[in-house]
Amino acid sequence: MKLANVFTIILWGLCALYSTGIKAQEGDQILDGIGETALTARYVLDGDLRDWSRNNLHGELQGSDVVFLEDDVFGTVASLKTGDQNGIKLPGKLVGGQESLTISGWFKTESGQNLSLIDFGVNAQNHLSIGISDGDLIAKVDADSNSIQAKKQGLKSKQWHHFVVIHNIVTSRLELYVDGKLEDSTAILNHGLDQILDLKNSNNNQFFIGQTFSRAKQKDDVKLHDFRWYHVALSAQQVQRIYKAALQGEAVVNERQEIEDKLPEFDQQTPQLFNAYLKSVEDVQLTTKVGELPRLPAYVRAVYEEGIAKNEVRVIWPAPKDNDRVQNQGQYTVVGNIPGTSFQPKALVTVKEMTTKTPERIIAPFKLSQVQLNKGSRGEQTKFIENRDKFVNTLAQTNPDSFLYMFRNAFGVTQPEGAEPLGVWDSQETKLRGHATGHYLSAIAQAYASSSYDEQLQEVFAKKMTYMVETLYELSKLSGEPKTPGGKFVSDPTKVPFGPGKSDYDSDLSEQGIRNDYWNWGTGYISAYPPDQFIMLESGATYGGQNNQIWAPYYTLHKILAGLLDVYEISGNKKALEVAKGMGDWVAARMEELPTPTLISMWNRYIAGEYGGMNEVMARLYRLSGSESYLEVAALFDNIKMFYGDAQHSHGLAKNVDTFRGLHANQHIPQIVGALEMYRDSDAAAYFKIADNFWSKTTHDYMYSIGGVAGARNPANAECFPAQPATLYENGFSSGGQNETCATYNMLKLTRNLFFFEPRAQLMDYYERGLYNHILASVAEDSPANTYHVPLLPGSVKHFGNPDMTGFTCCNGTAIESSTKLQNSIYFKSEDNNSLYVNLFIPSTLQWTERNIQVDQVTSFPREDHTTLKITGKGRFDLKLRVPSWATSGFYVKINGKEMDVKSTPGSYVSIDRKWKNGDTVELRMPFEFRLEPVMDQQNIASLFYGPVLLAAQEDAPRTNWRQVTFDAQHIGKSIQGDPSSLEFTYNGIVFKPFYETYGRHSVYLDVRLD
Ligand SMILES: [Zn+2]
Repeated sequence: MKLANVFTIILWGLCALYSTGIKAQEGDQILDGIGETALTARYVLDGDLRDWSRNNLHGELQGSDVVFLEDDVFGTVASLKTGDQNGIKLPGKLVGGQESLTISGWFKTESGQNLSLIDFGVNAQNHLSIGISDGDLIAKVDADSNSIQAKKQGLKSKQWHHFVVIHNIVTSRLELYVDGKLEDSTAILNHGLDQILDLKNSNNNQFFIGQTFSRAKQKDDVKLHDFRWYHVALSAQQVQRIYKAALQGEAVVNERQEIEDKLPEFDQQTPQLFNAYLKSVEDVQLTTKVGELPRLPAYVRAVYEEGIAKNEVRVIWPAPKDNDRVQNQGQYTVVGNIPGTSFQPKALVTVKEMTTKTPERIIAPFKLSQVQLNKGSRGEQTKFIENRDKFVNTLAQTNPDSFLYMFRNAFGVTQPEGAEPLGVWDSQETKLRGHATGHYLSAIAQAYASSSYDEQLQEVFAKKMTYMVETLYELSKLSGEPKTPGGKFVSDPTKVPFGPGKSDYDSDLSEQGIRNDYWNWGTGYISAYPPDQFIMLESGATYGGQNNQIWAPYYTLHKILAGLLDVYEISGNKKALEVAKGMGDWVAARMEELPTPTLISMWNRYIAGEYGGMNEVMARLYRLSGSESYLEVAALFDNIKMFYGDAQHSHGLAKNVDTFRGLHANQHIPQIVGALEMYRDSDAAAYFKIADNFWSKTTHDYMYSIGGVAGARNPANAECFPAQPATLYENGFSSGGQNETCATYNMLKLTRNLFFFEPRAQLMDYYERGLYNHILASVAEDSPANTYHVPLLPGSVKHFGNPDMTGFTCCNGTAIESSTKLQNSIYFKSEDNNSLYVNLFIPSTLQWTERNIQVDQVTSFPREDHTTLKITGKGRFDLKLRVPSWATSGFYVKINGKEMDVKSTPGSYVSIDRKWKNGDTVELRMPFEFRLEPVMDQQNIASLFYGPVLLAAQEDAPRTNWRQVTFDAQHIGKSIQGDPSSLEFTYNGIVFKPFYETYGRHSVYLDVRLD
């Protein structure tokens, strides 16, 4: 179906909305200039002990002594009385695997006598306490009878004070701020968090507000307000901002004037790295279509001094926010900049009317079950098999009832015996509950398809799939049907009433507050919570933890529907498709009634409107069911502002304008995956351009060397793209972490899907980078625990979570998908089965059943630089072998031992079209070399690669600065020693190992000089 009619409907009616000006991102992702990923918990204490953060780490009353009082400054505050022995107990999960922490809070004492504000640790000997002692505020760490402390003397009573205590691993100081000012700081020495907390098992830790381990009586009345836990060390400016913002009355949300956590600065007039050897830079000429910004080349040809083996240079071009410059035919010049130099390459752009054609889908993947991972050529285990087995074996142990728990809870159905709920983002009151279930459905389906090496395992996953779908099917059939014959019910999804006894829709999921009246929820409804969040989103609800706020209902739903369709496609379970269609109809009924301005408002609302790939899954539902209504609904998920710029579709990504700078990375990447799926199903060319332009921009302008793309210092949110393109050093490298792992999962999905339309080696170069250096690198050494952000600041360490699959964040969710489909992009074929693409060099066996051909790939790559393909079967086909962009010299192909005369341009595919015979062997060699990959706007900050493998410097202590190294300009590897077969190298006493085998402290970026 063509979508012209859908577009027409969308177009009118938007103008009014835009004149009122909708903010691109609303919500409280940035509180007081600090991104929410840094915030572990926030207790405002204005009437209850709830955690306001998304982590639901609610406090618990110990005894009955906390009362809430009205206060002139802060409204309602908590109060403890003299003689109280009790206070507030906080969950042990408050501190996870982190190394630093910050605690912030407000208090007001009556007379300044002895009292406790905070106490936490494993016991009364190993703990951190904050309290008043004879009028002094003291933060103290006791570790095995040694102690350190920071102190502020002579605090005034009867007035509010703000304290901040920072346990900072990087500076190795315990810092005490009072009323926005640093008052004292002391060396941590051997008083690290690991000395006072059990970082492996959080159940062994205890946290208190207003009481101590020893349950000492408070000797004073005290009032408490807004206690916060951050899992990073805040900067002095951030502390100031919390202090000032609170006194101004309102917390500052979404406002930011300057970057506070600065990186080391370098002189901007000094050419760095190879830019110091530049002799000349070429101008470029290009043509673009009227209305579409030209795609300016990230690299242009350049001449370097003799001996420097480089012929191009990174250029940073201006990045307009609209397409004004290309509205009319003609010519104009864009002037670029090469950091640290006075070179200003020019691009002469000719704007003219022309017809462009978007590509057809000509490539297809193999089914997961057609490709099997093998051991390496020396019989060794590979990282791929190791990681697959960690996930597959742990998944096999999971109890599906845990993943069904909150669905049953929503429908008020009794839990089967032994059923335990999941934690983290699927716990009782978490408004995202059910998201892990969607990932789980996809993961067990993929695990089933990927484990043909073990029939028993397959049986386990087959049973799990059937049980999951059966249960979800039964629940979905309850929706919108009378509970008892003749009983009342509401089958129309647009007529869902308030919950029983309620006067409005709400997102209360507590045991007491959740509604279970499924008979009122409309036909086909399925989710792990009642329909309210979907309805509230339509009427403007924002993201947050309160009962009038929501998380991301359509995000969660996307996971569930995608999981059901994965099960359907892999196992043929028709009930899975039926459940998906039922909910698809429910969504269609509601969405079709919404005016376009409402849709635009929904999809531009930070997190609340995060819909994962709803456009993708609805379009896919159309493709699998043939029912066009799903494709029409899919188009209603267009993020019009990002895709088309505005109501008139005047620019946006469809016209190559970067409309996603500063936005939440993983909120938007799946929308692009959806746009490409829309292109596949609708042929509307704009969708292809959106996806293609987005991919080009993200990989050139926002990418870290491991392949990740999120992590902004500006805006201050580790989950966002930096505020401006090609400013990774200026605006990226968030102290809260970078490289959100689920964002890379989605980037790989987008990359692979683009390849099906345009089989360019550049796409697979990125795929390989992200697969080896982020996805493989995101898993713990001994378990399937995995990363959220992957931090790349100097001396960082990865943190892994969810080893036993009992509590999932977004990234834990995508991880169980990533590691159950590691083999899915090694080989592709042309749709007509005449070509075979060998994309990745991973030991594996392909069953090309359509051609009755088997291909065994035998290699220990990347521990060796060659691979051999053994062909079983016969017939003519075009064998396409990837020549990686990093294989810049010495690539060759041998067939049956004889070297072929093939043109092998790095970053292309070599094509060998011939009649293949049973037993033919093809050997590829692609010599590895050391190379540097700099940050685009600060070239001396660079990562060291060996072939496809990112090498990380192994660090034994935290660092405040980038590690400095000096390499030979003509030959980077000159002074690097080591063994390519182990991929372990040393340079000047520094050990380098593959990042995917790095579990300790690391430096992925180095401050590189050349000589
Ligand atoms: Zn994530």
